[in-house]
Amino acid sequence: MAKHEHVRVAVIGSGFGGLGAAVRLRREGITDFVVLERAGSVGGTWRDNSYPGCACDVPSHLYSFSFAPNPDWPRTFSGRRHIRAYLERVTDTFGLRPHIRLDHEVRLMRWIADEAHWKIETSRGIVTADVVVSATGALSDPKVPDVPGLDSFPGKVFHSARWDHDYDTRGKRVAVVGTGASAIQIVPALQPGVARLTLFQRTPPWVLPRTDRAITAAERWLHRKVPVTGAARRRLLWGIRELQVQAFTKWPQELGLVERLAKANIARAVKDPALRAALTPSYRIGCKRILLSSTYYPALARPNVDVVASGLAEVRGSTVVAAGGTSQTGGSGGGTEAEVDAIVFGTGFHVTDLPIAERVVGADGITLAEAWKDGMESLRGATAVGFPNWMTVVGPNTGLGNSSMILMIEAQLNYLADYLRTLGSLGAGASLTPKPAAVDAWNHRVQERMKRTVWSTGGCSSWYLDARGRNTTLWPGTTTEFRRATRAVDLGEYDVVHAPTATTRTPRKESVR
Ligand SMILES: Cc1cc2nc3c(=O)[nH]c(=O)nc-3n(C[C@H](O)[C@H](O)[C@H](O)COP(=O)(O)OP(=O)(O)OC[C@H]3O[C@@H](n4cnc5c(N)ncnc54)[C@H](O)[C@@H]3O)c2cc1C
Repeated sequence: MAKHEHVRVAVIGSGFGGLGAAVRLRREGITDFVVLERAGSVGGTWRDNSYPGCACDVPSHLYSFSFAPNPDWPRTFSGRRHIRAYLERVTDTFGLRPHIRLDHEVRLMRWIADEAHWKIETSRGIVTADVVVSATGALSDPKVPDVPGLDSFPGKVFHSARWDHDYDTRGKRVAVVGTGASAIQIVPALQPGVARLTLFQRTPPWVLPRTDRAITAAERWLHRKVPVTGAARRRLLWGIRELQVQAFTKWPQELGLVERLAKANIARAVKDPALRAALTPSYRIGCKRILLSSTYYPALARPNVDVVASGLAEVRGSTVVAAGGTSQTGGSGGGTEAEVDAIVFGTGFHVTDLPIAERVVGADGITLAEAWKDGMESLRGATAVGFPNWMTVVGPNTGLGNSSMILMIEAQLNYLADYLRTLGSLGAGASLTPKPAAVDAWNHRVQERMKRTVWSTGGCSSWYLDARGRNTTLWPGTTTEFRRATRAVDLGEYDVVHAPTATTRTPRKESVR
């Protein structure tokens, strides 16, 4: 029989979610675990997104683990380099390296009921685990639209999350497709060096000024010497965002004032009325993610930029063709067609159709993708019907529109810790699967609350929504509410199954109250 490693817990992914889970496991006294990572280093989002200008939209002191404060953040909003370095430091500080298996892509994981474990096929062989913690990220697999003619484009093509640093964009004619969070960082970084930049904008984003500044040496000294000041700073940043989310989720009609600030941001940089009109969204602010930049609009107003107010419809040779839109140029020329040397897709990720879901086969022999064919659904953002001892970090309805994902990840780690404690108390060979009724009740509550949020009422179509128009990505409340909802496992929401090899030959299913 083939020999392979068996562990209590297999964590998949080494971004904030996977590394956070690893730290939490060690703190729970669990050392029998591995972290399987497909890439050659840790860091997730902050390793993969190396595009020019890549930075965080949440202040550094909030976008970091509460258990690993960094008094030395150099700027109020960190660039990817510093966040990536932070994650490398966390990996060392908490002794995670011996657990991490780099270049181990998980290809398939299958629940083996008789053994009460997961059989995980990786690119480097098989691992079995009692529990899987899937932390593969919601914004981790790039999405490139199926554009007719793209295959025969003679120039360079890449996605923002797979930047080709061997390609020099200086002096080139570059098309940027998309105006989401990545694109609005890329455009001002590329604009000064390129010959011409053609931006394809299907829907304009709302963009507020970015109040980024260097954190002074005195501030850093204070945070180092008196750590409570760093914690206070974090708490203040968190509190402001907790208030903001109330507006998104309860009082979207009150967001008009914020729209005025965003319009002033356009007016300050863009003098051409036609371009201004093309850049002004017609939906309520917050419906799509609010973006932060003080350089985006000034870049669009430069003479070497064309804003095409529609999507990319087709590529004909080296010509990119817009979907019947009009062109608003920051300078001269322009049209709905442009000849370019390179196309950069800032078109986001597979969010509501997570590729990892194709690779998980549960107790009923179906994949998670099949189980979720009508939309992603989980219990408390973590566990899924038919998938015993399997948990996801940053699962359905755990995303945030305005605050730090690290807050949600840490709440999910509390749930993970209690899940493992509960499972441990049930004896060897036990597994936990959420009851369909519990999952239904949870999702019903989430979707009821979703109805009055700006994401449902704001009049936009965003990547938060799935193919059926349901918001299965965002949490419609405060981070405090989510933390409360995930503090502990309610065993009444789960079925407990004991593997036949562990107790009796027939699998026993009990409902525990
Ligand atoms: C450009 C960009 C900017 C962002 N800015 C912000 C921000 O300002 N604020 C905010 O709160 N959030 C932001 N986010 C969201 C960000 O993704 C989360 O904050 C957080 O980093 C997610 O961590 P994660 O561990 O869940 O996922 P990731 O960081 O995506 O990590 C997932 C890991 O899983 C690995 N993996 C995937 N599939 C497999 C497999 N089959 N086998 C093995 N390994 C696998 C990947 O290689 C990756 O390392 C941003 C995202 C992007 C892309």
